[in-house]
Amino acid sequence: MKITDVETILLSLPQIREIGDGCQDLLVVKIHTDEGITGVGEVHTNAPAAKAVIEAPLMSVSASGMGRLLVGEDPRDINRLWDKLYRKTQSYGRRGLAIHVLSGIDMALWDILGKSLGQPVWRLLGGARRRKVPAYASDLDPGDPGALKELAQKHAANGFRAMKFGWGGLGGNVRQTVQTVAELRGTVGDDVDIMIDLGFAAPLEDAIYLGRGLADHGVYFLEEPLDPDDLAGFSRLTAVSPTPIATGEKETMLQPYLDLMDRGGLRIIQPDVARVGGITETLRILAHAEARGVRVIPHCWSADILIAATLHVLAVAREAPYLEFNATDNPLRRELAAAPFRPIDGLVAMPDGPGLGVELNEEAVQRYRVAV
Ligand SMILES: [Mg+2]
Repeated sequence: MKITDVETILLSLPQIREIGDGCQDLLVVKIHTDEGITGVGEVHTNAPAAKAVIEAPLMSVSASGMGRLLVGEDPRDINRLWDKLYRKTQSYGRRGLAIHVLSGIDMALWDILGKSLGQPVWRLLGGARRRKVPAYASDLDPGDPGALKELAQKHAANGFRAMKFGWGGLGGNVRQTVQTVAELRGTVGDDVDIMIDLGFAAPLEDAIYLGRGLADHGVYFLEEPLDPDDLAGFSRLTAVSPTPIATGEKETMLQPYLDLMDRGGLRIIQPDVARVGGITETLRILAHAEARGVRVIPHCWSADILIAATLHVLAVAREAPYLEFNATDNPLRRELAAAPFRPIDGLVAMPDGPGLGVELNEEAVQRYRVAV
């Protein structure tokens, strides 16, 4: 089997707003083969920039566009192709954008491998430890306590037993934030896990105040309270915060997670399969986390290709506390798959079809497709 083309499909909402929703545009990667099997992947980053990483020409032995490195190769040689893409982009890659793109390509290669064998990816990874996983509703904080409570009631009514809010007013005023979370707890009751996502760098003193104050209201984790590079701050925060601290959605590759765990004291990490280096790199991160007893609750805030890839990882993980399930009302995210993943009683079932097990809604793809 040989790769014949790496197709980039840029999808966008008609209007992109400056809000904390990173899937207002998406880059879907389709890898075509001479045997008629096509693999799909999704890159969670600035989509037009990612498209350029695939389509760029050869600049040097260590600064190539990625698409040309794949054409003519056997897509089933995932490990070898992963290394090839990493090494031949190292002058501008190794972290960030190039690894985001490698993530989408890796997903598409796993999809092809599964389809070529007629098996779901989780079976190729050694078999599932579970066939369903609890999902938490992941939503943006509307910035108003009353509206926040209404959202929480909606998610609870939809069967979610856990929910996260962030990227709005939460964290700006720490005493108000603790009060708002206390009211949220009163709204949803004691049986729902609440997560809070600051989504930006708070001062360490504020993060410590929140880590202590939110513990009174049983917050499951406090996410991304500090600058991603502030390992010393994380180390001080995790040492004193009774609320578990989670972070890691902006990292790429294994090494930063080793630092977060070993130097930052993190006990929950959040790699994003569409950013860190795909299923392949997420499994490496998972192995190191499991060796340290650290929980992996992947960041998953995009469309159904990423949900599928994340589910295959969660299927084989020793522990899978939660799937992050984007609960915002974004039509591009909602319509991309022919049969979208939906939680039932708060649980999402693993895909059973060959490969990633997700088929695109080609009508929606054509509707949202834009040229650059
Ligand atoms: Mg987040």
